[in-house]
Amino acid sequence: ADERVQVRRGAGDPLVAEAEMPPLGHFIDGAFDTTGPVSAPLVDPSDEHQVALLPQAGTAELDRAADAAAAAFAAWGATTPRERAELLLAIADRIDAEAELLGRLEALDTGKPPSVTADDVASAADVFRFSAGAARSLTGLGTADYVADHTSLVLREPVGVVGVIVPWNYPLLMAAWKIAPILAVGDTAVVKPAELTPLSLLKLAELIADIVPAGVLNIVLGRGREVGAAMSSHPGVDLIALTGSVGSGRAVASAAAESLKRVHLELGGKAPVLVFEDADLEATAAGLRSASFWNSGQECGAATRVLVHEDVADRFVEQLVEQVRQIPVGTPDAGEDIEVGPLISQTHQERVLAFIDRAQQDGARVAIGGAALPGPGYFVEPTVLVDVREGTEAAREEVFGPVITVETFADEDEAVRRANDVVYGLAASVWTRDAARSLDVPRRLDFGTVWVNSHLVLASELPWGGFKGSGYGRDLSIHALEDFSRTKHVQINHGR
Ligand code: NAD
Repeated sequence: ADERVQVRRGAGDPLVAEAEMPPLGHFIDGAFDTTGPVSAPLVDPSDEHQVALLPQAGTAELDRAADAAAAAFAAWGATTPRERAELLLAIADRIDAEAELLGRLEALDTGKPPSVTADDVASAADVFRFSAGAARSLTGLGTADYVADHTSLVLREPVGVVGVIVPWNYPLLMAAWKIAPILAVGDTAVVKPAELTPLSLLKLAELIADIVPAGVLNIVLGRGREVGAAMSSHPGVDLIALTGSVGSGRAVASAAAESLKRVHLELGGKAPVLVFEDADLEATAAGLRSASFWNSGQECGAATRVLVHEDVADRFVEQLVEQVRQIPVGTPDAGEDIEVGPLISQTHQERVLAFIDRAQQDGARVAIGGAALPGPGYFVEPTVLVDVREGTEAAREEVFGPVITVETFADEDEAVRRANDVVYGLAASVWTRDAARSLDVPRRLDFGTVWVNSHLVLASELPWGGFKGSGYGRDLSIHALEDFSRTKHVQINHGR
């Protein structure tokens, strides 16, 4: 019998009406500009229909956006924390008021199921609310007298114009993670969404155009290698922040080197999941069903690289496969219970399938899944690869798709050594019921976030960011506001 999962499909009615679409153009100095040479068409990845055509920015649009942001900074950078907080709260209210529409626009661009878009939009509103509060508690780092007759003021200042480059996996949320703290500290922004997924951010700009002063938030559309690269080297951009792949991070950092602008990088991951022999295997398997396949595994912190103790490996894989078998796959309109949607594009679908093929050539075995699902749409079956060998590509490289790899280990030292043996350092999780192990093992792991008996649980108050190849700088938390501001020391000699 063919045990393949089927793609569940809704009635196929348009997700977004024509009148609900945002203006399809750059947003510069408070106005939309829909002119210019158009891009390759945006495609709905769940049914492959053409959604829209958008203009691509050239250097003229980028210069205009950077100039507008610099001009707006003069007034915005001098606002009080309270004024900025009130604006951020108003943005959060608009997001909440239009959450349903923002979710549908996100689904149109990405194919995400309602469970994911609902979380994305609510989390985007929340990071604006958190940043509003944080804006009012970050200022006034205080005074100190460390030198006789000299009083020091340590001031926190905005940096100026911040360039932001956003990926396609969470188009609205990753933009919000940057824009909220940037505006909170008094910077202005020029944001480039991913070329595949600009709609939700354009809608946000439209929704808040009457409350955000012109030039404080600007959006330029275009490809990474052109517009993103030009932003990274642009003399009018004071700090450049990217969420994206390691390769793009390298390109941005080297382009930024010429002007020595500050760089903030949230890059890829390959999160190891250490399952010890004393773990609650059932809870672990259930936890991974969500943490590995959330957003079709197109998630930089996804729980995709299982390292399980050899004594419990067979039992654990059995439970994991049972969980994966139950995952409903479908289009955004196929029901609230859909857990996995399509991948973002045909190119990406082919990339993930080729990865699964190479893993098998390297000795891995498919325990469940492993193939594309019938189109239209770029679906890949939720997949578990077992017998993955140490050092092979499957054990080392980010897949960014619905694929879990399983390796086994013999003892704790080996588990820690192999978990750390990747270029990435974003996130990891440890599954154990041993209290000492739950405190000790996280300290030995080289990752910016380590969860114990959970994975992928985030909150606006908690820092998110990587070590090593996963970049530097922190999103979320008060640390994001620190990263997007600068420290100045003013010293007053009052000796007589
Ligand atoms: P990507 O690097 O291809 O693209 C990200 C953005 O960078 C896009 O807007 C793109 O246009 C731009 N870009 C591409 N090349 C550029 C260049 N040379 N100069 C300047 N900008 C450039 O990544 P993607 O495929 O959109 O997203 C997937 C990657 O993002 C994965 O590696 C994932 O792990 C990572 N990611 C990380 C986090 C995090 O918080 N650490 C969150 C989401 C995604």
